Amino acid sequence: MVRTACPYCGVGCGIAATRTGERSVLIKGDATHPANNGRLCSKGTHLGETVSLEGRLLYPEVNGARASWDAALDLVAQRFSDTVAQHGPDSVAFYVSGQLLTEDYYVANKLMKGFIGSANIDTNSRLCMASAVAAHVRAFGEDVVPCSYSDLEAAELIVLVGSNTAWCHPVVWQRIEAAREQRGTKLVVIDPRRTETAERADLHLAIRPDGDVALFNAALIDMKARGLLDDAYLAAHVNAPDGFWDQLCAGDDGLDDATRTAFFDLLAQHPKTITLFSQGANQSASGTDKGNAIINLHLAAGRIGQPGMGPFSITGQPNAMGGREVGGLASMLAAHMGFSAEECAAAQDFWASPMIARAPGLKAVDMFRAVHNGRIKALWIMATNPAVSMPDAGFVRAAMERCDFVVVSDCMAETDTSHFAHVKLPALAWGEKDGTVTNSERVISRQRPIFPPPGEARADWDIVADVARRMGWTDAFAYPSPAAVFREYAAQTGFRNDGRRVLDLSQWAELSEADYDAWAPWQWGGAAPYADAHYSTPDGKARLVPVTPPANEHDPAFPLRLNTGRTRDHWHTMTRTALSPKLSQHRREPWVEIHPDDAATLGIANHSIASISTPSGSSLYRVSVSEGQRRGELFVPMHWTDQISSGGRTGRLPSQKVDPISGQPAFKNSAAAIAPY
Ligand code: SF4
Repeated sequence: MVRTACPYCGVGCGIAATRTGERSVLIKGDATHPANNGRLCSKGTHLGETVSLEGRLLYPEVNGARASWDAALDLVAQRFSDTVAQHGPDSVAFYVSGQLLTEDYYVANKLMKGFIGSANIDTNSRLCMASAVAAHVRAFGEDVVPCSYSDLEAAELIVLVGSNTAWCHPVVWQRIEAAREQRGTKLVVIDPRRTETAERADLHLAIRPDGDVALFNAALIDMKARGLLDDAYLAAHVNAPDGFWDQLCAGDDGLDDATRTAFFDLLAQHPKTITLFSQGANQSASGTDKGNAIINLHLAAGRIGQPGMGPFSITGQPNAMGGREVGGLASMLAAHMGFSAEECAAAQDFWASPMIARAPGLKAVDMFRAVHNGRIKALWIMATNPAVSMPDAGFVRAAMERCDFVVVSDCMAETDTSHFAHVKLPALAWGEKDGTVTNSERVISRQRPIFPPPGEARADWDIVADVARRMGWTDAFAYPSPAAVFREYAAQTGFRNDGRRVLDLSQWAELSEADYDAWAPWQWGGAAPYADAHYSTPDGKARLVPVTPPANEHDPAFPLRLNTGRTRDHWHTMTRTALSPKLSQHRREPWVEIHPDDAATLGIANHSIASISTPSGSSLYRVSVSEGQRRGELFVPMHWTDQISSGGRTGRLPSQKVDPISGQPAFKNSAAAIAPY
């Protein structure tokens, strides 16, 4: 039996896997793992249906023909070296993924930021939780999630913001349901749509899209009026900028007064409040402000750092957190360091590198714009499918089409993105990978191999390190094992840290190969990193951040508002979950939810096909008329691709609009129109 971790969502469940044949495996929940204690959801349970070699990329390809690893990697190293020599470090980029293991991320980040000398490495985690990262840094001085799953069991009130937890983080949902049953925990769901999660809530607040800042500012004003702020905590541990309280304003949240007051009453009655927020909050042009509006409330009421309290960002991907730790985002350097002169020197000295990136690189949307306009001439995409998942995906395809040199590392042979690759590099898949991942509560777990590498597939960290050596950096990338990479990463987190950052794994810097193999789940920062109320800012105080509700938008040509999200049994662009017959039964085709009044007005029949259009593109969906949809709004799932379906290509619809602070795309609240097809 192999103890490993699920490759899907950020809950990070432990799996006990028993190999039963050449490519077959029996999957059970790992009863010893703290995230799930043996529980699994449908996606985890059916992992065994996804481990065949069907559709796998097993050998390197150059311009569509099988090639040797030497030929492929020599070409990649040569083209990246030549491009940097001719056009400078910022003419190349890596676009990576929350599917990578921390060791993969670490080596890619080190190569780009320390040796090539550019910060042009960004990740599809930009699409997932970059706004939460930015909110944490603004409030706490560091990207630290201050809660643990056990807080859900200690809370009196759980507030879910922009999260269909029952579908998207099902094992966290199972823990919430168990807590409610055992302790009578109250549940509030804040979501424009009446999801399966909202159906189960004590109170559902169907706010207007992007009404979150207005609502949480109003909640803070209400708590102040009721005398519920923690003045002692505020005085000792929190800085508020001048005029913060005078400027605090509510706005249009789309709710009626009675519903809003019912929420405020629950907040007043239950000091032990957890506010769990996810993509519904993050994927917005005001995503960072939403995170800070939530955090402001917790800081001002002193509801943080104690069991059952705090703002809890839950991540979408299995290793978005690990990527955040090692610098997988263009906006961070490494080991939670930014780009101050001191931090750049620390990173460069630690790596003994010839170069160091000194400013943030291009975030995902800007990166593909730079590919489109020719500023980026060589692009390496690892373990992700931006031709489907990026907003304005038609533009992204055009960008890759015109790029001089595109490398794609993936475990699958044919994806919408690999179609544009000059070089395809076969990577390991789940069940073959060997390394670590970090989940939403900062627990580091091992992904362990169940099967040997198929064909000539190799680990991502190994592929990147090999290219780095071929670019001339032989000693710095001579890693004999993933454990060696992990040891170096652990050492970097402690280098010139001196207690300034919570992220400190330096106790593992000498970890033996055997202890790495035997690694048991371990939580950095402990269960409550800010229990002592000492934050990661220069003066140790947290910060209230003034945030203003965004204005409502209206475009007469596209009069509806479009939201996107996940379905229960599919993952991202379905390259893995579509292999499972059972997972494909839940929802067989892409659909659009529309309110009955809107459907009647527009002459759109239930179960018919309708075309949704936005200024960026259009796509077809099966109509599902639903009372759970607000009037004037539509909902579509995000997963379907050219590979799977002729319709439902949702990535084509959202614009390139991003949150101005985090750079996270606004997948929610797009201007849209719908018509019968
Ligand atoms: Fe995997 Fe997430 Fe389901 Fe757990 S909840 S089994 S991590 S998909």
